[in-house]
Amino acid sequence: MVIEPESRRGFALPDVPPPDVFDQCVRCGLCLPTCPTYVETLVETSGPRGRIALIKAVSEDRLDLLSPGFVHQMSECLDCRACEAVCPSGVAYGRLLEPARTQIVRAQSPLRSWHERLGRALLIGALFEHLGWMRAAARVLKFYQRSGLRALVAWTGILRLLGLQDVEALAPRISDRFFTPRGQEFKTAGRPRATAFLHAGCVMQVAFAEWNEATVRVLGAAGVDVIVPADQGCCGAISIHAGEMPRGRELAKRNIAAFERSGADVYIINAAGCGSALKEYGELFGDQPEWQNRATAFSAHVRDVTEYLDEIGFPAGTFGRLERSVTYQDACHLAHAQRIVAPPRRLLAQIPGLALREMDESSLCCGSAGIYNVIQPAMAQRLQRRKVDHVLEVAPEIVATANPGCALQIRNGLDRANAGHIAVRHVVELLDESIRNRSLEPRP
Ligand code: SF4
Ligand code: SF4
Repeated sequence: MVIEPESRRGFALPDVPPPDVFDQCVRCGLCLPTCPTYVETLVETSGPRGRIALIKAVSEDRLDLLSPGFVHQMSECLDCRACEAVCPSGVAYGRLLEPARTQIVRAQSPLRSWHERLGRALLIGALFEHLGWMRAAARVLKFYQRSGLRALVAWTGILRLLGLQDVEALAPRISDRFFTPRGQEFKTAGRPRATAFLHAGCVMQVAFAEWNEATVRVLGAAGVDVIVPADQGCCGAISIHAGEMPRGRELAKRNIAAFERSGADVYIINAAGCGSALKEYGELFGDQPEWQNRATAFSAHVRDVTEYLDEIGFPAGTFGRLERSVTYQDACHLAHAQRIVAPPRRLLAQIPGLALREMDESSLCCGSAGIYNVIQPAMAQRLQRRKVDHVLEVAPEIVATANPGCALQIRNGLDRANAGHIAVRHVVELLDESIRNRSLEPRP
């Protein structure tokens, strides 16, 4: 099928960055050592500077939007935003990449086979938009994981024949009980300092329910009431990063309206990738002023749970001993996109007995990046090995992180390296365990 020239044109649509964003890049190269794909390949076009030049070339019609090299580079980029965090010119790289991906998706759409379109519609359109479907799929996966079917399938070798064994190994272990938003209200003992709206997530509510439960308890220990309104939804990050911007906007509108109705003081999120998307909702609505204002007001209330707990603090004597050696993995969308680096470390430092061992390159992407490890498995596995090597160098008992994608990728990498004895946990789980230990300690 021939693509109409207009649909190939790179940046003629409303969700487009202003042209001067391109000229902000002064080609200094300071971003190159922070870029995971550049440090792995040492190829200019696999780094931020090269990719910005490619995007500019497409926007000026010097390069075809669907040229294989351009499509590859837009896909190989992890959208980790490490380049943004160090750029002295303040180049908002994510505001270039995401429209470029959206344009590619639109231009490729008529070329997709019916089964590709169906797969995409099911994954992005159904699972993430209708979380009842997500929960139904999770129940099927849970049956597969717990019933012995998984062992049977592994024994047949069929996954290897279909080339699906790596994807299967990356699937999260489904939680014993789901954390479904149903309008729950969790009251803290005494007079609350604030009321927090907890974003329960999409995959989070079925595969990381224990993270949400720990978040509720730790916020309670800090004196905060927690509500979990039923009318919230997926944050839209998966849709936005996959180039499905209109779907991402609809999901954003749902969460904005849910928070406005709730009357809560703060919108808490415990997954870095989702938090980054929630804080950038204002950028999705450049052509819809009313929604842009509402989105900007909403985003001003969003806090990552580690950021918020570090801000408000805990009463004296909250924490009990937890004698564990821990290394902390900076999730890209926490460290680079939200610039939250010190708060999780400060929280861990409050736990008596916990030894924090910093690993090398803790803020270099682990290769997870949403569904990157499924669509770019080769690069994802190189970055995973690099990360695991750094973890093993400091030999901790626990890798702490604040993002489910990192947790899955590092868990999988540790298992591949026969390091199953090292646990991977969210920072709030460690805080929660320490608080529970306190209740077991003798009082003076
Ligand atoms: S650091 Fe910023 S200005 Fe320098 S090359 Fe990278 S993107 Fe361009
Ligand atoms: S977002 Fe990450 S992978 Fe992409 S160019 Fe920037 S540093 Fe490199």
